[in-house]
Amino acid sequence: MDVDTPAEELASALGVDKQEVKEDLESLLQYSVPLEEAKQSIRRKHGGGEGGSDAAQPESVALSEISPGQNNVTVSVRVLTVGTRTIQYQGEEQTIREGRFGDATGTISYTAWQDFGFEAGDSLVVGNAGVREWEGNPELNLGSSTSVAMAEEPVETDADIGGDSDLIELSPGDRGRNIEVQIQDVETRTIDGRNGETEILSGVVADETARLPFTDWDPHPEIDAGASCRIEDVYVREYRGSPSINVSEFSTVTPLTESVAVTDDAPQLSLAEAVDSGGLFDVEVVANVLEVRDGSGLIERCPECGRAIQNDQCRVHGTVDGEDDLRIKAILDDGTATVTAIIGSELTEEIYGGDVADAKEAAREAMDKEVVAETIRAELVGESYRVRGSLSIDEYGANLTVEDFAADDTDPAAQAQTILTEVRG
Ligand SMILES: [Zn+2]
Repeated sequence: MDVDTPAEELASALGVDKQEVKEDLESLLQYSVPLEEAKQSIRRKHGGGEGGSDAAQPESVALSEISPGQNNVTVSVRVLTVGTRTIQYQGEEQTIREGRFGDATGTISYTAWQDFGFEAGDSLVVGNAGVREWEGNPELNLGSSTSVAMAEEPVETDADIGGDSDLIELSPGDRGRNIEVQIQDVETRTIDGRNGETEILSGVVADETARLPFTDWDPHPEIDAGASCRIEDVYVREYRGSPSINVSEFSTVTPLTESVAVTDDAPQLSLAEAVDSGGLFDVEVVANVLEVRDGSGLIERCPECGRAIQNDQCRVHGTVDGEDDLRIKAILDDGTATVTAIIGSELTEEIYGGDVADAKEAAREAMDKEVVAETIRAELVGESYRVRGSLSIDEYGANLTVEDFAADDTDPAAQAQTILTEVRG
């Protein structure tokens, strides 16, 4: 957009330097502030507010009253969290601060496009903040025309201040959080980043409440398998439908001398609850195997990418020399919903009672690969299992990548029998 003309008009109307007006205007427009509103806030800045009402400081608006339609609001808030992140904005790297504010009526998230220097716990009067909609909720935008001053009195809020969180509390979109975790699993990966090949860390962290995947975009040496650490300033994104922790160059990692206690259990949910959650990194369900689907048993995989293939044709790599493997795709049903359980080669070997060589032998004898799937079908269908794994949901449905798979020993009849035995015992 050409800002020269409006900047010139505005500057001469206000009797101020054109370059300053132009810079203000450009930055406001960058934050998607409409032109008319941008001009108005510059007028206000130079004391030329509409109708000459330039003197009075506007009343603070309660956070519960803010809606995406408003603009240029003044709020009195307590800073709950401050996260720092760099983003690519119009081709340039920009460092922003984001988190949540609270007052007596509620909380709201904010993005600050420059460093105002406030910290969690500060009480502030924020003037001339923009309001935009972010994932269906209003969010405050603090830009160069926003004023930030310490409030004269502490602002009351019921919300937690500081961002310390248990893993179970985290959801995608959370920013500026602090966690104390044990690193359960970590590997170094090389990715094609914005600045060429970059090394990152990925793995799993755990505390007493949950286990979650993480990525460290700026590898911290303290993040080591088995170590317990406090990690400050992480943000949370959605990865395959479940929350994922993101550690960045702005995060601080402090080793803890005392080891963080971790949970051994996954939350146990009904399939409907699990599916409704939109995806879970670690969940346990009890369900019946309704069906063992085609593509189970003895299969072939592309040696390049590991995709299951048929007739030596990979849809990415063309004709390849397929590698034999075992897997199961089973439909689980607990009366509330169904999901497809994907069971990898190790567990499939246990269920089948043999390895790839045994399966090939059986297929050769029967002159039919399908005998392997048939054996698995006979073993599983109609029985109840306790299944633990990672649930992801996409346009093709709900898939549970299975980690543990065991006969359900808690079916009501068996439980009743156990109790009877105890009573009699
Ligand atoms: Zn392939």
